[in-house]
Amino acid sequence: MQVKLHNTLTRQKEPVEGSLIRIYSCGPTVYNYAHLGNFRSYVFADILNRTLRLAGYQVQHAMNITDVDDKTIKGATELMQKHPGKFADLKAALAAYTEPYTQAFFEDLKTLNIVKFDFHPRATEYIPAMLDLVERLLAKGFAYKQDGSVYYRIAEKKDYGKLSRVDLEKNKTGTRYNTDEYDKDDVRDFVLWKAESKDGVHWHSAHGDGRPGWHLECSAMIHEIFKGGIDIHTGGVDLIFPHHENEIAQSEAGYGNGFVKHWVHCEHLLVDNRKMSKSAGNFYTLRDLLAQGKRPEVIRYFLLSAHYSQKVNFTADALHQAEASVEKFYSLWLRLNRVTPQQQAGASAFLKACADARENFTAELADDLNTPRALAVVHEYLRAANAHLDHTQEKPAAAEVEEIRRTLRHFDAVLALLELLPKVGVPPELQKLLDERNAARAAKDFKRADELREQLLKAGYKILDTKNGSHLEKV
Ligand SMILES: [Zn+2]
Repeated sequence: MQVKLHNTLTRQKEPVEGSLIRIYSCGPTVYNYAHLGNFRSYVFADILNRTLRLAGYQVQHAMNITDVDDKTIKGATELMQKHPGKFADLKAALAAYTEPYTQAFFEDLKTLNIVKFDFHPRATEYIPAMLDLVERLLAKGFAYKQDGSVYYRIAEKKDYGKLSRVDLEKNKTGTRYNTDEYDKDDVRDFVLWKAESKDGVHWHSAHGDGRPGWHLECSAMIHEIFKGGIDIHTGGVDLIFPHHENEIAQSEAGYGNGFVKHWVHCEHLLVDNRKMSKSAGNFYTLRDLLAQGKRPEVIRYFLLSAHYSQKVNFTADALHQAEASVEKFYSLWLRLNRVTPQQQAGASAFLKACADARENFTAELADDLNTPRALAVVHEYLRAANAHLDHTQEKPAAAEVEEIRRTLRHFDAVLALLELLPKVGVPPELQKLLDERNAARAAKDFKRADELREQLLKAGYKILDTKNGSHLEKV
């Protein structure tokens, strides 16, 4: 099935063409734990990846790790000041500072069951490729040196601003920006290679000691990994300008045209209708939420439930709704373990409903990743399947049970909830049976304890008795 996506560059919905789709998603800057707003963007990248594969495309997906930029260097400098004499130089402190956050990021991706990316390039491992791009830009007249640094000359790129449609009237050519981030009112020449002193984080180069600018990193890594342009580039809307605009400027000028076919951007996450910020006290990392007892699959469901192009509002209520929806999904899945399938001949009308639900689910996602409509298909199906099981008095045809399982697995190819099920333990009603069984055992009522063990086994769980108590594990 052909997938269509809204392209930020053309402001139009366009088909994704080809069989192998190369995607690059801007990843985290590892100066802290990633927050919930970041994870909205990463879950969106995951929905894109999974949808393309469900629709029959092959996917190669890279997400970078920014481990050298203004923010990480600031953190490394503070770390070095805190531990005088511990690090040989600031570069060593930078590695020590970013590594735990990088590992934490990988763990967080796993927690939310985000598919493993094919490539996780770290900026510090691609310095030669970045210097090569600087050389190309200098040779073609798109860059110039000033005070030991190298800058991009935006006046030279006639279509600069085509992605963000930034107001070039305010173009301050000849004035330069040294920092990695700036806003739309400051369209200036930006730094490609930043001069650094011997005490700063630096690499040797023909242009003197320095380090890459943030924008340069992604352009060089994409070229190095994919050996050419890519099909889809994703990121949060806040990256459209200047980051992605500058990536286009560098890559098209340095390597030739054909950098990115499709730009897809994900909107912000709000918390209680406000922008998430540390100062407002509404700033959450994934770890904060888990520590509060929030469940990964509920957070994942919440993050994917809104269309990526809409702001999503994180509230206690929204999370409860997500929780209820996830429970419904799990509940049908577990119910299938308890039914008694009958070997019957003949076709069932319900099989057709299953096939239709699968097809509709994929079709809604293929239409610009419309997760709200895809979820509506899922919930309509959950209702229909439960009604069917009620109707057949828990004795459906074996082929129907298989088909319901197959349909839930089909949904799960994108929702990715079932793999999170064992980690979160078990539905409350089964937990209650376990408590009852433990109480029976403590009271030496072994007959009752065995009955409950059997009951749990029928529901698809076996009891594991350990030194730290007993718990349930999926069979
Ligand atoms: Zn980037």
